[in-house]
Amino acid sequence: AAPPLGSSVIPVVNKLQDIFAQLGSQSSIELPQVAVVGSQSSGKSSVLEALVGRDFLPRGNEICTRRPLVLQLVQTKKKGDGSEEEWGEFLHRPDKRFYDFSEIRSEIEAVTAREAGENKGVSDKQIRLKIFSPNVLDITLVDLPGITKVPVGDQPTDIESRIRTMIMSYIKKPSCLILAVTAANADLANSDALQVAGVADPDGYRTIGIITKLDIMDRGTDARNLLLGKVIPLRLGYVGVVNRSQEDINLNRSIKDALAAEEKFFRSHPVYSTVADRCGVPQLAKKLNNILVQHIKAILPGLKSRISDALVSVAKEHSSYGEITESKAGQGALVLNIISKYYEAFASMLEGRNEELSTS
Ligand code: GDP
Ligand code: MG
Repeated sequence: AAPPLGSSVIPVVNKLQDIFAQLGSQSSIELPQVAVVGSQSSGKSSVLEALVGRDFLPRGNEICTRRPLVLQLVQTKKKGDGSEEEWGEFLHRPDKRFYDFSEIRSEIEAVTAREAGENKGVSDKQIRLKIFSPNVLDITLVDLPGITKVPVGDQPTDIESRIRTMIMSYIKKPSCLILAVTAANADLANSDALQVAGVADPDGYRTIGIITKLDIMDRGTDARNLLLGKVIPLRLGYVGVVNRSQEDINLNRSIKDALAAEEKFFRSHPVYSTVADRCGVPQLAKKLNNILVQHIKAILPGLKSRISDALVSVAKEHSSYGEITESKAGQGALVLNIISKYYEAFASMLEGRNEELSTS
């Protein structure tokens, strides 16, 4: 099965949090938000689910995501007996823990209807959901309604511009990573995802291209050139994925089976097996992890100077006491020395890891 989003970054982040805690500092590191954008039914919700590794989002061939869903992943400690409890909690229902993930989906559907009506209406009022699990990174993912052109049901005539404005309000933030999702059976040159991402992030420093539905491209065509960036180049590149089809959804096919099927599809495919580093949800997770590591590296120099400052001041205090190492200041210096060694080891580990994770 695929590594869940951030699996290789979790130990790094945890170590860093330990260092912050030792320094007596509240401020923990803030990871970027990740938002999915694209046309309706391009597979945005499917991609997010695959990254999280759980089934809980409304998906389908009609408009399903009709309100922004802000999904906060919260890492919990494993229980003493090693069992792994995972549950969801909605901001609007703080009293209830959802252990059954299909109930989370029903709740999303119910509160979508409450705010946006039963008939395809869209609302910009957020749904806020936290998922607690020992296997996640503390990161926020945002599932957004897709861009649609022709109003249906209760949608107003200016539905397209309303949705674009809503999407922009999330992805214009410089700290937001954009997953720009385009289905392989649509024309990339007409991609709503790349268009809107290009407006928010013109230099492409925070946009990853995702090509879905590689399994249902027209016979005789393939997405090799798209994935290689030969059609529309993207600085951070593209990843191709195969999510569950509508039939898979109707048959209740599990995410685990879907990931196994995806792996098999790419491995046995004459074209995609030649660009394997750009194919599959695990590669997407790896790419994201790599970007998160870069982000963490960027905050290290600041952390280092805070450690040295603390070391200097505690050393001064120490010397004012003379030789009594039993003193509080002496212990402080000792602890800080350990932290600073720990930091060095941590920083070099990150360097090494980063080379290993680096993608072309
Ligand atoms: P969203 O509107 O962009 O969030 O798209 P969804 O994730 O709800 O998916 C829309 C429809 O496309 C659903 O019926 C999915 O089963 C189907 N779908 C999504 N990705 C793929 C894929 O890679 N292959 C196939 N065959 N179907 C897909
Ligand atoms: Mg959706």
